[in-house]
Amino acid sequence: MQVQLTQQLLTQNDCYQEGRTLKPTGIMVHSTGVAQPNPQVFLRSWNKPGVEKCVHAFVWREGVVQTLPWTTRAWHAGTGTTGRSANNTHLSFECCEPAGHTYQGGTMIGYDVLANQSYFEAIYQNAVALTAMLCQQFQLDPLKPGVVICHREGYDLGIASGHADVLHWWPKHNVTMDQFRRDVAKAMSEGDTDQEEDDMTQERFNELMEQYLAQRSALDPAAWSEQARTWAEQAGIISKGPSPQRYRSSATREEVVQMLYRLDQMLTKQEPTP
Ligand SMILES: [Zn+2]
Repeated sequence: MQVQLTQQLLTQNDCYQEGRTLKPTGIMVHSTGVAQPNPQVFLRSWNKPGVEKCVHAFVWREGVVQTLPWTTRAWHAGTGTTGRSANNTHLSFECCEPAGHTYQGGTMIGYDVLANQSYFEAIYQNAVALTAMLCQQFQLDPLKPGVVICHREGYDLGIASGHADVLHWWPKHNVTMDQFRRDVAKAMSEGDTDQEEDDMTQERFNELMEQYLAQRSALDPAAWSEQARTWAEQAGIISKGPSPQRYRSSATREEVVQMLYRLDQMLTKQEPTP
């Protein structure tokens, strides 16, 4: 799964200016909490001093816009009930919500699930691809507890402020965070497979085949064939020479007829002359 990733760093945001380092040990998923599918609207209003918030990326329908370097500490989680903050540990991205709904507190009002299904699927796939990419880059296991979480789960863990995202939205489309974590893990393993397939060329295959045959050739023959081998070598059907007889490798058709020919020659010689 490939993610369409562009970069528009929010260099005027105080968080970027502060520039503290993050060593990511997790990823937190957010949604913006407003019916605005266009990330540029957020980028414009966030790229200035005095905003008090900043994330690493925005996921939108067409891809991902990176807004902070992955190793810069972001301001996205606030402080949780334990007094700790996922800002110190987690990468963060906002998912853009479709147009058309409003909010009453943390609840979406007038959200049309059916009309937004394809929009949601695009957002979800991009979120999976981005999270898989980041997990790979920072060697994170998405299935380990507390690694890939949403803002609401962060609140439950006591490391984020009391927000509902994304559990006020994704379950409307029958997606849980557990499903998301499984899909991220799957995308990571599929990514590995794609890589192997991409690297395999005819040339590479031939190379590996040569190596395989050489390994087979170098193996010692089994004891049960000893008598036959001695006979074949003494009769000159298998050449003795300094090179190994390659008993555990396959014979070509060329070698087979050569052996038959030598056998025939040998038998002809043995026939009594009239
Ligand atoms: Zn949030």
